[in-house]
Order: sequence, then structure tokens, then C-alpha cells
Amino acid sequence: MKKSLSVIIPIYNESSNINLIHERLINVVNTLNLNYEFIYVNDGSVDNSLDLVKQLCINNSNIKYIDLSRNFGHQIAVTCGLDFSSGDKVVIIDADLQDPPELIIDLYNTSLKGFEVVYAKRKQRQGENFFKLITAKLFYRILIRITNISIPVDSGDFRLIDRKVVEALKTMTEANKFLRGQIAWIGFRQTFVEYDRDRRYGGKTGYTFKKMWRLAIDGITSFSDFPLRIATLSGFIFSFVSFVVILYALYSRIITKDYEPGWASIIVSVLFIGGVQLLSIGIIGEYVSRISQNVKKRPLYLIQESNL
Ligand code: UDP
Ligand code: MG
Repeated sequence: MKKSLSVIIPIYNESSNINLIHERLINVVNTLNLNYEFIYVNDGSVDNSLDLVKQLCINNSNIKYIDLSRNFGHQIAVTCGLDFSSGDKVVIIDADLQDPPELIIDLYNTSLKGFEVVYAKRKQRQGENFFKLITAKLFYRILIRITNISIPVDSGDFRLIDRKVVEALKTMTEANKFLRGQIAWIGFRQTFVEYDRDRRYGGKTGYTFKKMWRLAIDGITSFSDFPLRIATLSGFIFSFVSFVVILYALYSRIITKDYEPGWASIIVSVLFIGGVQLLSIGIIGEYVSRISQNVKKRPLYLIQESNL
């Protein structure tokens, strides 16, 4: 029997890209000569993306759409697509053509050599601003240092995964999704294919600074306790320093009786210790808030309508 491929395309205000990516994806699956399904997950777009996607579904039963009840964010939209996918292999791809659809042919052929995960690694990134490049580079470098799973650097979610991996992901029901970390955690045989990342074809990025920050903290808190250990360590260091200073203060007050009013040193130490304390509480707070989100066990997304 022919193998089947699912392609998951999260959509957030992508009306200028949908028709083009669809056409290019169709060419790719025709070249590969596979059974296929495309799953367009509309993540609360406010333009006419949903109408365009519905148009694509009209004459082709391989094209599926899922309309979420609101904007849940990229990671959740992809998770929803994975939940409903049925292919032997599944591709996750952005809708804005930054991930060239033709690379799927390479990803697929590489997977046939016996890999459950083939991710696309960026050689170059075009049309991305300096701030995004720097923060992304820094983030991935820090992340691999403080986690003990090997999250690949310079790669996003553009990848091909085997059904085994999809089934494993479905059992990982945490609320704060960081898919590339989860897939790294899952293991199996993983490899990569390099590519040049294009600039966004039309429209503008849906990843605001707030969403990027959330993703970064989700990634770190889901896979590392390092920030908590830093909080503990700084506690130890400052307690030790404080203890020495206390001894010195008592010595000068009681024994030598040679002491200054010392306004500056008090202000500096109070502010400094106050800062460290607040930071530590903040770090603990990030973990606690994620515990609370997970304890609630809310569904990750709700579906408005679909043609599944
Ligand atoms: N996206 C989404 N929900 C969001 C933001 C983005 O489904 O809240 C989709 C978007 O339509 C695209 C992919 O996620 O297919 C990547 O988003 P984007 O290109 O805006 O991110 P960037 O490439 O700038 O990091
Ligand atoms: Mg993009």
C-alpha cells in the first residue's frame, strides 16, 4: 500500500500566502507520489484566511481544515493538527513560505534512511530583523547549556516526524507546549537537513515579542530546573557574604568602637538583596504558574468547526 503523508499548516492571518503554499505543497506530494492529507489549522485569524482555506477543501477530500475557537498560539495550533493527523509521516510547516515546501522532498527521502525525526536546520535566515536573529541565537545557545536534552540549535518546528513520534507527543499533555523540546526529549533516531530560510512571502509575523518571550520561558521551564538552582545558589552566596559583613559590623561596633554612620552601604545592600529576592521569587513564580496551569487540566484548544 502507498505510504501516506500528513502536512500540518498553522494559519494566523496568512491570506496572502495560502494559495501559493497550497499550490507548492500539491506539487511536492505529486512529486513524492504519496497519499496525503493537508490539515490547515486556523488559529483565530481575523482576515479571510478561513474562507480561502475552505475554498481549497471544496474539490479535494484530502484537504482538511480545523477552525479553532480563538487564537491559541502557534504551538497549540500545531498540536491540534497533530492530534487529528493520520499519515504514516507528518510534516509541520509554516504558512508564510519561510519554510520552502520543496524541502519536504529532502526531509522525506532522508527519513527513508531510517530516521523518525528529520528536522530542517537553518543555514541562513533572510529578511529577519537583527533583534530576532540575536535573541533566537542567544536563546538556543542558553537552552542547550541548561537542559540535558539535545534540542537542536537553529531549527524551528519545520520537520518531518514519524507516526511513532506523533503518538508519543499525544501522551505528553502538558499545557505549556514547546514542541521542539518535546520531540528532542522523545528521542528515536533524529537527523537534519540544512536549508536557507527565506523571507516571509506576504503579511507580517504573528509572533509578537510577548509570544516569543512566552515560548522562550515555556521552553526553559519545561526542560530545565537551572533557574531555580541559580536562585538557590545566589541565596547561599549572598547569605555567606552577609554573614561576613555582619561579623565585621559587630566587631567594629563593640570591639574597636570605630564605625561610620554608613548610609550608603546600607542602601546599596538593601537594594541589592531586595533585587535578588524579587528575582528569585519571580523565577519560582514562573514554575508555580505553570504547575497551576497544568493542574487545571483544561483542554488545550477548542474547535469552532471543521471538515474532519
Ligand atoms: N501562527 C499561529 N498562531 C499564532 C502565530 C503564528 O498559528 O498565534 C502561525 C503562522 O500563521 C505561521 C507560523 O505560525 O504559519 C509561524 O508564525 P510566524 O511566521 O508569524 O512566526 P515567525 O516566522 O515570524 O517566527
Ligand atoms: Mg514566519
